[in-house]
Amino acid sequence: MQRRQFLSALSGVAVAFATRSYAGTSPGNDKVTIMQFSDDGKPLGRVTLAKVRKDAEWKKILSPLAYEVTREQGTEHAFSQPGYDRHEPGLYRCVCCGNALFDAKTKYDSGTGWPSFWQPIAAENVREITDHMFGMTRTEVRCALCDAHLGHVFDDGPKPTGLRYCMNTVAMRFVAQHKL
Ligand SMILES: [Zn+2]
Repeated sequence: MQRRQFLSALSGVAVAFATRSYAGTSPGNDKVTIMQFSDDGKPLGRVTLAKVRKDAEWKKILSPLAYEVTREQGTEHAFSQPGYDRHEPGLYRCVCCGNALFDAKTKYDSGTGWPSFWQPIAAENVREITDHMFGMTRTEVRCALCDAHLGHVFDDGPKPTGLRYCMNTVAMRFVAQHKL
């Protein structure tokens, strides 16, 4: 196992991703504190967990598109994925690791064709990284627990935050809140 991780770390892509992923954290810090939520959206408290790393396995676990989006910073086509316009009550979890990301209560119709939220379920559950690629300043949003690329956040959202978390449908797994 050790050897396999070492070998995968040798690949240029893995090294590039790892370097970028650590941008906001101290070197060697492989733990992250997140807020855990039950499937019906109740906060269960903060926990400190080791970051989820499955470099060799993501491809087997994820659909090709989910892999491209979450592990290679891709973007699904607008209006293309079933569920982008879903508005049922429930919880959105990371498709890779299950970390709770958004409550459906904060989802709104942005008209963009991507699921849009005005706030993450807990600030510590996502990580925001500002980049200046292509001459634009953009803020990327990642899962704090496994570093999955989720989408970007913009400042043209609705009240109360004025933010628009523009996510990829395939980066999240929806857990419907069933009526009791
Ligand atoms: Zn994740």
